[in-house]
Amino acid sequence: MLDNEKITLAHGAGGRVMQELISKRILSQFSSDILEKFNIEVSLADLDDSAVVNDIVFTTDSHTVKPLFFPGGDIGSLSVAGTINDIAVMGVEPLGLSCAFVLEEGFPISELDRIITSMGTSSKTAGVPILTGDTKVVERGSVEKMFINTSGIGKRTEQLDKNIEIVKKYRKFEGRWLKDSNLNPGDKIILTGSVGDHGIALLSYREGYGFETELQSDVWPLNKMLQATISVGGIVAMKDPTRGGLANTLNEWSEKSGVGIKIDEQLIPVKPAVHAACEMLGMDPLTIGNEGKAVIGVVPELAEDVLKAVKGFTEGAEAAIIGEVKAQKEQKGVVMETLMGGRRIVDAPAGDPVPRIC
Ligand code: MG
Repeated sequence: MLDNEKITLAHGAGGRVMQELISKRILSQFSSDILEKFNIEVSLADLDDSAVVNDIVFTTDSHTVKPLFFPGGDIGSLSVAGTINDIAVMGVEPLGLSCAFVLEEGFPISELDRIITSMGTSSKTAGVPILTGDTKVVERGSVEKMFINTSGIGKRTEQLDKNIEIVKKYRKFEGRWLKDSNLNPGDKIILTGSVGDHGIALLSYREGYGFETELQSDVWPLNKMLQATISVGGIVAMKDPTRGGLANTLNEWSEKSGVGIKIDEQLIPVKPAVHAACEMLGMDPLTIGNEGKAVIGVVPELAEDVLKAVKGFTEGAEAAIIGEVKAQKEQKGVVMETLMGGRRIVDAPAGDPVPRIC
């Protein structure tokens, strides 16, 4: 990079440009020999949903969604559910959150009240307390209205240990955590519900396209559903397909696990309004961000049992087994069998097709 280069929106979009910023500029400065004093089983360099240090699961996320209120949620519910989900997909129980507000001078107290009420409701729904926080106010014009950062911690459970024991009955499994790099050929891929609801509901509302009348964000804390699935056993990896959508999640899994992934378009739930909006806007629902969905990698022998557990929850009612993992010699990257009977490569989006949704 040249000295006069500046940050662009793409640097925060979750795609390749952001990955480059992290790997070239950030990781090199944050890795040092002090790390050796700690038992770090999932590190910053893993770029997973959370890190794990001395058996504590830890994650953080800043929320800059625009507008602050949208169909189905607001920045408050999003900031609570988003961080809980990043902990929950590690297969552990979230213990608590921090919450830090950056507010612009002049922000209406009535709106702040609505947002805080919404955070409280999400926290109660999930059964995860907000334990510590911070509030800063900056001069008018120096931020846009409000940003919220939430961090969260989680702890390992007996169920996670049992889940991994069960995996080991069926195949080799290394390590003690559900990581993006854990997939093996033969594993099945479960998606817990329809894709694109959050991104399209928000975009449509923001731009006035009209689809928001029949569509809401899926923002929801998934910890209870995911804990129930872990109790079934056989799960090797989980991820919430947020920025970059399902396409990004599956490509991360494929790259980090060194496997191919085959999915079937016919099996992927897409709501009619999302389908219609994507047709109109020339977008791919697989690349649109979700805030209340998880992708689960599971040994084939237990895929139906895990699916059944997911479907027992309202938030997982539309879940489906959408594909399976292939050996790289058989298939590289992520490939989808299309409704037309063809095959297409599913790439990770380079940037964010819908900016400012989380
Ligand atoms: Mg995540």
